[in-house]
Formats: sequence, structure tokens, C-alpha cells
Amino acid sequence: MSKLDQTEVLVVGAGPVGMLTALLLTQNGIRTRIMDQESRTAGHSYSCALHPRSIKLLSDAGIAAQAVESGHRIASVGFYEGNARRAEVNLAQLPVDYPFALVLDQSALETLLERKLREAGVKIHWGHRLANVDMKDLGATAIIERLATTGKGYSVPDFEQGVERTLETQADFVIGADGSNSVVRRRLGIRFERTGAPQHFAVYEMEAGSDCGHETKVVLDPAASSALWPMSDTRCRWGFQVNPDDEAKDFPSKDRERMAVIEPPGERDSLHRLRQFLKERAPWFDNPIREVIWTTNVQFEPRLARQFGRNRCWLVGDAAHQTGPVGMQSMNIGFREAVDLVESLTQILRKNAPEDLLRAYDRTHWCEWQRLLGFKAVPPAADKASEWVRQRAVRIASCIPASGADLSALLSQLGIEF
Ligand SMILES: Cc1cc2nc3c(=O)[nH]c(=O)nc-3n(C[C@H](O)[C@H](O)[C@H](O)COP(=O)(O)OP(=O)(O)OC[C@H]3O[C@@H](n4cnc5c(N)ncnc54)[C@H](O)[C@@H]3O)c2cc1C
Repeated sequence: MSKLDQTEVLVVGAGPVGMLTALLLTQNGIRTRIMDQESRTAGHSYSCALHPRSIKLLSDAGIAAQAVESGHRIASVGFYEGNARRAEVNLAQLPVDYPFALVLDQSALETLLERKLREAGVKIHWGHRLANVDMKDLGATAIIERLATTGKGYSVPDFEQGVERTLETQADFVIGADGSNSVVRRRLGIRFERTGAPQHFAVYEMEAGSDCGHETKVVLDPAASSALWPMSDTRCRWGFQVNPDDEAKDFPSKDRERMAVIEPPGERDSLHRLRQFLKERAPWFDNPIREVIWTTNVQFEPRLARQFGRNRCWLVGDAAHQTGPVGMQSMNIGFREAVDLVESLTQILRKNAPEDLLRAYDRTHWCEWQRLLGFKAVPPAADKASEWVRQRAVRIASCIPASGADLSALLSQLGIEF
């Protein structure tokens, strides 16, 4: 087995949260290596909205200007049930540097982060898969498989990935930013506890006939949530929560992965299904559909890690939690976790601070997620919130693109104390 140079921090996973973590560590002068089993950044526009605080974090890291320039601003969130508009929150009233959410393709965000890492002298080791991690008293040993793609066949090449080489490296700390099936979390033996029923969404990105505006619209029907996210002047994305039993019969059987992507039906069926959803859920939506750009069905299973790590191995982002997609919280709160974890590690590695700081990281973020997932939601004051809002307080909280103090401030516009 070949040995790689020792590093201070090994970040496993180059999704948005892993890349931000590696960038912040490097900016703080910590020797960092980042690796990912895939061969490049995301090709799809999955998690597409940055919360106001995330924009500020990116600004501190030096990449907000490009993000703001290429993104689409969201100024408010309107809440509907059927034809009735029931409530709204106004992000422009937040007393922050960036009082709006920003819709940006995940692929565009990842490209910005990768470029900034390169400028900071950090190369992402694509095609490197963490196979195992073994914690020692003063560090961790990681076993990494370097993957290579080989082509077989002549006229029709058939590509497959295999392990080219196995490598070993030592790190003072390992950060698992390796998404919902995190190997780091599993090697630590940390339970990924289910916190609610799986939520299935049918997602449609479409080109619209007229201006999509700057408001996210959330439809809270009794048993399902739907959301419209404007992505540019003429492009928008609808997500409809569905009961898996209602899905078209010829859909492939559901994957049991925690986050499963199911192949969508063909183009004509997509348009038909989208029109059907709009008729049932958002009859007020009168923007003509010019084209369905892509569609997918995805299952989110709300989960929370019992702990955010231990001793020398810590988790950030989807490795520690997963929730429904409407408020875009998993990635955005993952960014804040990255900032806090990097701050603690910098104190420990550079200022001899006690490792107890990491236990505080664990408890702070675990408690925040408990609250967000509805375990500790405080009922709104009866005289401030409308009956409609009061009955849906936890659902509303999970649909707003903000967290921490910003989320509390936006919920207080509705009379919800959070
Ligand atoms: C179809 C789809 C739609 C989505 N829609 C939304 C949405 O509308 N709103 C929303 O908030 N979120 C959505 N998400 C989730 C969103 O993409 C995630 O919250 C976000 O990407 C989390 O970032 P992350 O960096 O924590 O993890 P990820 O982006 O999952 O990154 C983890 C990285 O770790 C790598 N990795 C995993 N295992 C290993 C290993 N053993 N060794 C090396 N590397 C490894 C992976 O290749 C990956 O690049 C969606 C996801 C999907 C799949």
C-alpha cells in the first residue's frame, strides 16, 4: 500500500459543504486535503437556493460577488392553500447584508467553489474513495482507493470504474462531508436516526412564457407541500410532494436509498403530469409552460445523526442530516456547520484550545436540527398568528429559506415564536 503525505485535516467529499470546509480551513492556514469518489462536480441543479446567511458566508470566503451576479434573487415567500393566499414573509425586511435568497444551480455554485479552492492552491483529488477510517488518540488513518475508469469493447465502448491503487494517509482530523450515505459516519458507528416519514417529490424545471418574478410560492395542502422556485426571469422549478402510491404505474420500483432518484417519464407524459399537478395544487399559476427542461422524482428521508462526530472525526452537511427540500436547509445549514467546525479546529490546531470545543459543535448543531425538525417548536402566541398559520407552524418553518436568527425573524412576521 502506498503512503500519502500526512495532512492536518482530510475532508472526505467535495460536494458544496466539503468544498467550503476545505476552502475555509486553507484560508485559516490549515494544511488540508480534499478528495471525492466522483470524477467532477455536480452536473445537475439540485439544491438551488442560498439563504441570506449563506451569501454572507460566501462573501466572507470571497465568492459572493460572482454568485450574486449569476443568481436570481428571491425577495419573499408566499404561502397558499388551493386558490387562497394565506400568508407571506418578506426577506427584504431582514437587517442583514444580503436581505434575499439567491437561486443558483448547484453545478454553478460548485464550479465557483472549486475555482476558489484552486486559486488558494488546493487541488481536489477526484476519483479517490474513502474505504476506511481508523481513529487513533492523536489523529486518524484513512484508507483511500484511487479509482480509474477503463473502457472495454471496440465499436461500443463499455466503461467501468475499478480500484487502481490503495493509499494510506494520516490526518490530525478527518471531516466527513461525504453526503447522506457517509462512510465516515458509518465507520464511527453513529446512528442516522429517522425523524419522520420519507417525503417523495416530483420535480419539474420549466421554461415559462412570462416573467417568473422574485417570489417563492409554497402551497401547503392538508397532506402535501408544493413549491415554486423562480430560477431566472423565464425559468422556474416546481416540486410537488407526492404519495408514492399515486405515481404512474410504469415508474421503476422505488430505490431504498435514503435519497433516491427515480427516472422520470417521457417528455409528453412530463408535460401532462405537470399540467395535472398545477390544476390540482396551484390553479392560480397562469404562467404558460413553454418547455419542461428536466424532471425527476426524488425521495427525501428526514434523518439526523445521533452525534456530529467524535474525537478526531467530525461530520458536516448531508452526512449528518437530511430533510425535505422546500426550505433548502440541508446544504445551507451545512455551510454554517462548516464555519463553526473550521473555527473550532483552527482554535485547537493553532491556539491549543481544548478539544471540548468540538463537543460544543456537536451539541449546538444537533440541538438546532432537533428544533428545525419539529421536536422543540414553540407554539406561536395565540393572539399574533392566524389560525391557519398556527396549525402549520412547523411545516411553515421548514419551508422558509433561512436559518438561525434570520429564520426566527421571518417567522416572527407571521406571529410564530421560534
Ligand atoms: C435529485 C436531488 C434533488 C435535490 N433537491 C434539493 C432541493 O430542492 N433542496 C435542497 O435543499 N436539497 C436538495 N437536494 C440535496 C442537496 O443536493 C444536498 O443537501 C447538498 O448537496 C448537500 O451537500 P453536501 O456537500 O453535504 O453533500 P453532497 O452534495 O451529497 O456531497 C457529498 C460528496 O461526497 C462524495 N462521497 C460520498 N462518499 C464518498 C467516499 N466514500 N469517498 C469519497 N467521496 C465520497 C460524493 O461523491 C459527493 O460529491 C437534492 C438532492 C438530489 C439528489
